[in-house]
Amino acid sequence: MSRDMETRRAREAGMVAFMIGLYCRAHHGTEKGALCPDCAALADYARTRSARCPRMAEKTFCSTCPHPCYAPAMREGIRQVMRWAGPRMLLYHPVWALRHIANTLRHKLNQTGRSEENS
Ligand SMILES: [Zn+2]
Repeated sequence: MSRDMETRRAREAGMVAFMIGLYCRAHHGTEKGALCPDCAALADYARTRSARCPRMAEKTFCSTCPHPCYAPAMREGIRQVMRWAGPRMLLYHPVWALRHIANTLRHKLNQTGRSEENS
């Protein structure tokens, strides 16, 4: 396990947790630093998936993964959080947000012209 990958994993986990926190505060009225049970479950789930992800080396974020490992209900939940919190990340963490946008674009460019995953 390379250090770079660990950094990436930690960064992704931190970003997801942060976004879920923002979303929960705005939508469920929780205190800063707290999560409602639903969002806590989602955050736990996301953290576990990220920690076990075998594809961390080839992707930048779960949303760019060609094989998302989220269960459908969790995927829908996280998608809602991302859709709402994504644009707000530019305000709170512009560096993260821009890096993520850049990574996503690069990933998309790489995908076109590359043959489908074979594993
Ligand atoms: Zn919540």
